[in-house]
Amino acid sequence: MQTQRLAQIMQERGVRRTPQRLAVWRLLAEEPGLTIREAVRALEPEGIGQATVYRSVKALENAGLLLGFPAPRGELRYAAVLDHVHLLVCERCGAVRRLHECRLSGYEAEVEQKTGYRVRGHTLVVYGLCPRCREGGEP
Ligand SMILES: [Zn+2]
Ligand SMILES: [Zn+2]
Repeated sequence: MQTQRLAQIMQERGVRRTPQRLAVWRLLAEEPGLTIREAVRALEPEGIGQATVYRSVKALENAGLLLGFPAPRGELRYAAVLDHVHLLVCERCGAVRRLHECRLSGYEAEVEQKTGYRVRGHTLVVYGLCPRCREGGEP
């Protein structure tokens, strides 16, 4: 189902659907919060080279299918997005998890009303300390 929606969005936004781009997107859907370097390492066994990973990330990000967000140690991390994503990021160890609940539809309606925009969606990155880091454990 996810794959179908992905194909549909790529077509709508005029993004060429290559096996490499699909592999990059799938990896960042399964493991949100990887850096490009980590993605390169993970995709190496599939025979996808570094330059291809960089280009795929750029193309997918431009199409709104990847979200890049800052994380500890100044590295940019990426997560796959279909229509919508909420991420919870630990500022100390960099752990990333996806939040599945969304209570922002009322807020979107409010934004529409106040600004006159037709709202299509949102992404949300929530920063904080994960339970392990709160306890002061080593990341
Ligand atoms: Zn942490
Ligand atoms: Zn939401």
